[in-house]
Amino acid sequence: MFPSIPQRDLKASYLAHKKEIDDAMKAVLSSGRYILGERVRNFERRLASFLGVEFAIGVASGTDALEIALRACGIGPGDAVITVSHTAVATVAAIELVGAKPILIDVDPLTYTMDPDSLELAIKQFKMTQRIKAVIPVHLYGNPADMPKIIQIAEKNKLFVIEDCAQSLGARISNKKTGAWGHLSTFSFYPTKNLGAAGDGGAVATSNIKLAQKVRMLREYGWKTRYISDLPGKNSRLDELQAAILSIKIGYLEKENNLRRKIADLYNSLLLHKGLLTPEVKIGSRHVYHQYVIRSQKRNRLQRYLDSRGIRTLIHYPVPIHLQPAYKNRILVSAGGLSNTEKICKEILSLPVYPELTIGQIKLICHSIAQFYKEML
Ligand SMILES: *Cc1c(COP(=O)(O)O)cnc(C)c1O
Repeated sequence: MFPSIPQRDLKASYLAHKKEIDDAMKAVLSSGRYILGERVRNFERRLASFLGVEFAIGVASGTDALEIALRACGIGPGDAVITVSHTAVATVAAIELVGAKPILIDVDPLTYTMDPDSLELAIKQFKMTQRIKAVIPVHLYGNPADMPKIIQIAEKNKLFVIEDCAQSLGARISNKKTGAWGHLSTFSFYPTKNLGAAGDGGAVATSNIKLAQKVRMLREYGWKTRYISDLPGKNSRLDELQAAILSIKIGYLEKENNLRRKIADLYNSLLLHKGLLTPEVKIGSRHVYHQYVIRSQKRNRLQRYLDSRGIRTLIHYPVPIHLQPAYKNRILVSAGGLSNTEKICKEILSLPVYPELTIGQIKLICHSIAQFYKEML
């Protein structure tokens, strides 16, 4: 009865650039070079220049990017790293993968990104008992975290800043891109991200040559010279097929991010219901809407209602990390509590947003939401 509208459409992104991608795939296959070749180097240069940083290094996933960035800072067992609980589990998992202890803090109630006050409180709370080495702000949904404040606090306390930009490629504060603020920044090219591969991929970016060299070594067995490990490293390489796709798609990223922003503007202008909150963006920030997330106290009912009309939505994320079975009761959390995090998880809903979504589809989604609120009265 209702045409189905998916929450995301990965095939549409392939079809939008089909000819270029098909040709590039054939060229890679016939080249005989499949790992860390010319296409990876080319993509790394383009990513660095897009971000306005000196170096970008391709790795196998966003999780690996975080793990390698932490290792490059010399972070390991006995160290602690502060991040938010309202994030993808990968952010927290990476901290434990290097043997360090995550300390989870609250988010700002409007932007849903790291609350600088909560950061200061956690540093005070834990600095006598934990060796805090770094802070990982997450630019969740594509909305930049408050980097000027976070960097100020980090500098005062001599902490490394690693930006988790998995959802924010192309976002910026003033004219500086997310990923150009911290000592290091990490990216994921998981197919759903704004710049998505046809498989897994990731990158680490930095303007510090020493950190860049370390990341480069760590992604391939700690080699500086082939077969000689100067550091204990791992295998986390980006392959030529993914790099070829990413090099094509990065050329369209600004245009596609602008389409996402147009969709968000249209949603913002049509979703004016009492009890429904649309995303907040700080003045001077550019949000790239990896997700368009609304808030409603009737979230579960609204989601079911939309689902019955063929409109698929998702929840990013339904359970904060500090309450998930793998972490509950053992993870360090700030004494101030995580009340914003716990409250918003019950109210957030990610509507469909992708460059190929049509105006007709957006209007249909908004009409259904209006209908829901009318029936609620
Ligand atoms: C996707 C994502 C990651 C992890 O990336 P993978 O490539 O899936 O390992 C990390 N952090 C955030 C915020 C993400 O959205």
